[in-house]
Amino acid sequence: MPCKTLDGKALAQRTRDGIAKQVAELKTRGVTPGLAVILVGNDPASEIYVRNKGIACEKAGMRSETVRLPAEISQERLHEEIERLNADPEIDGILLQLPIPGHLDERQALDRIDPRKDVDGFHLVNAGKLLAGEKTVVPCTPKGIMRLIGEAGVPLVGKEAVVIGRSNIVGKPIALLLMQAGCTVTICHSKTVNLAGHTRRADILVAAVGKAGFVTPDMVKPGAVVIDVGINRVEGKVCGDVDPAVSAVAGYLTPVPGGVGPMTIAMLLENTVEAAEKRA
Ligand code: NAD
Repeated sequence: MPCKTLDGKALAQRTRDGIAKQVAELKTRGVTPGLAVILVGNDPASEIYVRNKGIACEKAGMRSETVRLPAEISQERLHEEIERLNADPEIDGILLQLPIPGHLDERQALDRIDPRKDVDGFHLVNAGKLLAGEKTVVPCTPKGIMRLIGEAGVPLVGKEAVVIGRSNIVGKPIALLLMQAGCTVTICHSKTVNLAGHTRRADILVAAVGKAGFVTPDMVKPGAVVIDVGINRVEGKVCGDVDPAVSAVAGYLTPVPGGVGPMTIAMLLENTVEAAEKRA
């Protein structure tokens, strides 16, 4: 069976069209969803992500605010900015663009965000609810991955899922969501022994490693759904964690660019609109 491309760009566009309609309806009730993105310092990759998030908000008819803070800002001043946005009735979502400079405590800053405005789902309260299987804000990238897998139309109950990567923002939450969907989940990481032995069993394989071309065809079960989360820059070009040659073996594959990335932004808009719905 030839490998099918899971087109995140197209699915994200359809999702954003639906969000724009929801925003228009909210506006008739006097509510314009608002997203604030906090950017500390001027990391070039973060600048691009923040700009893209702002453009996506405006295209959907939402309000967007970028709060630019100097790299040398103190923890206290950062918290003051977060508190100001927590108190702003026009702001439904607050996103702290990561990574932040090393002298700052990321955990403390994320936990200062009002959990109702935590559209990234990184606050400990929201992360805890996800772990407990309660309704909560689901982090954007894992949420987008689940939508992409849904597009493949592959039933998940009883399937073997393998996640490579154990970060708080991708690996752990996607493993929880796949488990909640009925998969038997294995989380692999940098200390895993015989990685390919695990990945070759996967009906669903998620690569969130941050190493270009890390997953090779010999690591993939024929017909597997392969989700490439990686964003790597090699000689000026963006590429994923999965070697494109995997398409000779996989049943479904997400491209990079044009797979998980656009879905992450669409889910950010969706989480912000959901927060605005609660305000309305
Ligand atoms: P991270 O650096 O926090 O985590 C990487 C994980 O890979 C770690 O858990 C580590 O144990 C594991 N790993 C490293 N080397 C390994 C090895 N040899 N074998 C097995 N596991 C290994 O990264 P992250 O924040 O989870 O992001 C992962 C990738 O996804 C990055 O390329 C990042 O840019 C990308 N990303 C993309 C999106 C998107 O919207 N598409 C969102 C978030 C992250």
